[in-house]
Amino acid sequence: MPAERKELKTENLVIVGSGPAGYTAAIYAARANLQPLLITGFEQGGIPGGQLMTTTFVENFPGFPNGVQGPELMDLIKAQAVRWGTKLIEEDAISIDLSKRPFTIVTTTQKIKSNSLIISTGASANRLGLKNETSFWSKGISACAICDGATPQFRNEELAVVGGGDSACEEAEYLTKYGSHVHLLVRSKKLRASAAMADRVEANSNITIHWETELLDVLGNEWLEKLKVKRTNTNQEDEISAKGLFYAIGHTPNTSLLTNQLNTDSKGYLLTKPGRPETSLEGVYAAGDVADSEWRQGVTAAGSGCKAALAAERWLTKNNLATLIKRDELEPSKAETTKPLELSNEENFNPDKTWQKGSYALRKLYHESKKPLFVIYTSSSCGPCHILKPQLHRVLKESNGKAIGVEIDIELDQDIAKQAEVSGTPTVHLFKNKELKKLWKGVKARSEYKTALDLLFE
Ligand SMILES: Cc1cc2nc3c(=O)[nH]c(=O)nc-3n(C[C@H](O)[C@H](O)[C@H](O)COP(=O)(O)OP(=O)(O)OC[C@H]3O[C@@H](n4cnc5c(N)ncnc54)[C@H](O)[C@@H]3O)c2cc1C
Repeated sequence: MPAERKELKTENLVIVGSGPAGYTAAIYAARANLQPLLITGFEQGGIPGGQLMTTTFVENFPGFPNGVQGPELMDLIKAQAVRWGTKLIEEDAISIDLSKRPFTIVTTTQKIKSNSLIISTGASANRLGLKNETSFWSKGISACAICDGATPQFRNEELAVVGGGDSACEEAEYLTKYGSHVHLLVRSKKLRASAAMADRVEANSNITIHWETELLDVLGNEWLEKLKVKRTNTNQEDEISAKGLFYAIGHTPNTSLLTNQLNTDSKGYLLTKPGRPETSLEGVYAAGDVADSEWRQGVTAAGSGCKAALAAERWLTKNNLATLIKRDELEPSKAETTKPLELSNEENFNPDKTWQKGSYALRKLYHESKKPLFVIYTSSSCGPCHILKPQLHRVLKESNGKAIGVEIDIELDQDIAKQAEVSGTPTVHLFKNKELKKLWKGVKARSEYKTALDLLFE
């Protein structure tokens, strides 16, 4: 049973979700001395940092004239929220009880009470529920072209995207950088994407649009090889060769925690007062995609996070519920930023360094070191890698130099990634004396890596 938080009996404000909406709400609430508590999420309904962690360049967020990588943008917004005193719980919220005040929020390990709440849990990518979908998930099927498109198995192979909206078109275009040809499967006779986007895709000779085509199942052996489809205008079944299949079939708002507690529309999006962040219950606010099926952008989410925090602050003050913190310094110390890791080579390689990068370090450590070795396969566009790396750094730091880690960028070291049969990022391998002891795909809780490492010392 999750433990009750001891240090603060009742929080002023709990924010659930760490996308642009949640972190922006946190910046405003923290600057108002409310010391908000933000539950970042972990694996339910997205990842810490939200959807922008799964994209490469964001070209339309104000303040970045040359664009900014999605994960970098989210790291910066997070640092800003933390700098002003936001407390973070890096877990999922697993239940919320709005029937009594203060409200109760239960996370994976804690039970929290709060006077007010901002829900900014975003919306998750939908799946099709095909018969063989689970077998080929991460073995050819992905919900994020931007995250997984660069993996070696997709290079110069036929790829497919299912969907007919802006995301599907964007992903199909993006994948032409990697695949030999891209098939776009569209159920109807028309794309739902913006006219400019649709024109671009239709004019691209590297993309074939399969109109009126329904995906029935996915086929292959160890890896995806074929798509079974039905041409709905003729009712004929057909097969399309594809080593990669990318889903772009819409989103479902992450509101299952609040079922029957707040008013929603028919799709589950939270309903608020028109143009405002107030939900159907006083003291509970909604921000970002979770309450917005239409605009769904980083900047609109951030803007609504700002509104939600200001509204919560006013409501807490009006009801004498705000307990403000006092700052010793008017200006908090500067936010910490992480520097990119240098590639190891003959000159700078150090066998005792806990964390290094590149094939040179991997070869040396794999063959010569007796210490357990974590190898993390990343790619420049992989948002989840941003979440995983600090977790692994902590595990290595806590091991007091008894274990070491190497980062391999699968774009820079394609041969190594292929040899290691890496099918997506992040992937982590744990070796001891050249023997693979454990393999993880995606981001896992820090305790999983720590437990596996501890077992090697028993
Ligand atoms: C591939 C891609 C590219 C995009 N490119 C752009 C772009 O270039 N420009 C742009 O402006 N927008 C872009 N968007 C849209 C933009 O990412 C979203 O509109 C925006 O991230 C929404 O922000 P949000 O804070 O509402 O939710 P999200 O970013 O979805 O974040 C939701 C957060 O809630 C958390 N959460 C969910 N359930 C729980 C739970 N039970 N407990 C705790 N936490 C939970 C998740 O972990 C996540 O941190 C893109 C989206 C995608 C998918």
